[in-house]
Amino acid sequence: MDQEKAIKVIDLLKKQGPVIIITHHHPDGDAIGSSLGLYHFIKNLNANTVVMVPNDIPAFLQWMPSCDKIFVASHHPEKASLMLQEAALIFCLDFNAPSRIEHLQKQLEESKAIKVVIDHHPQPQDFADYLFSDVTASSTCEMVLDFADAAGLQENLNKDAASCLYTGIMTDTGSFKFHSCTAKTHIITARLLSTGINKTKIHQEVLDTNSINRLRMLGNCLMNSLQVFPEIRTATMHLSKADQEHFCSAKGDTEGFVNYCLSIKGIDLAAMFIENAEYIKISFRSKNTIDVNQIARRFFNGGGHANAAGGKAFESLADSQKRFIDTIYSHASEIL
Ligand code: 5GP
Ligand code: MN
Repeated sequence: MDQEKAIKVIDLLKKQGPVIIITHHHPDGDAIGSSLGLYHFIKNLNANTVVMVPNDIPAFLQWMPSCDKIFVASHHPEKASLMLQEAALIFCLDFNAPSRIEHLQKQLEESKAIKVVIDHHPQPQDFADYLFSDVTASSTCEMVLDFADAAGLQENLNKDAASCLYTGIMTDTGSFKFHSCTAKTHIITARLLSTGINKTKIHQEVLDTNSINRLRMLGNCLMNSLQVFPEIRTATMHLSKADQEHFCSAKGDTEGFVNYCLSIKGIDLAAMFIENAEYIKISFRSKNTIDVNQIARRFFNGGGHANAAGGKAFESLADSQKRFIDTIYSHASEIL
């Protein structure tokens, strides 16, 4: 982490007007965790600091300290535009391409605010005035702690900040399991734990708050839509709009479904296709050296990390799934 750059950003923050911390569409644990974590570090340096998300926050993250203060742009689109226009400084957390904030992309691009990106995804786009990019970081939460250290804000690491950062590290590393979770991640996590946070409660809030509907919807997917293609070590599932309605699917309910495909013995590549109003949202996961970031970028208008990525398809559920399988077969020697 570039100390000089971090100190400069904090100097600007103290002098400037409104500050917005924004994160990606369909925010996940790392998105909300890093945004609120940073908020807890800087809120006493500029009282006019707001966390903004493009759309709703899943219920399993709503317990997080100060989550109730987050501004959800889709509920007040005009006010969101005005806020982005009038902001002096905008922190962009856990995304590195303006398209990741969907309907707010244009407002962000047109805003005269100083833009600070803190993010761990590969291949950042060139829109930041101050870019903090680290693809070796397990999560943006890990980077927020690095940023706070570099900027000399260690004293602001309290239980609220630590709970938020712990949540993002835990969710982005699959509960400390993924390759991206390094010795450094564990050292940082130990520091967070030493503030006295209740990690068991955090795991319970995030993982043990399923609704019966969500479990039945998962059961339905496993029973009726799971398909396995052993030759290409690939498994897929899908979820139609009708099924989501039938099971009263709520925001965040499909989080993690794709991991069940990847948990099958002999499967190294998994994809989950979810129909929504405008397009098919796809989640890709892989083991070892299969690079789903490349698959998502090349074939499905998306991106992400090497082992966890997402994308979009603009054909039907069946056609997008078929195109995915055909693509893997036809590019098997490069991809697998
Ligand atoms: P998920 O499948 O959980 O939605 O996303 C997995 C990872 O891929 C996350 O790091 C997320 O930020 C990224 N991701 C998901 N969808 C997209 C997308 O449409 N475009 C890009 N560039 N990244 C995505
Ligand atoms: Mn992340």
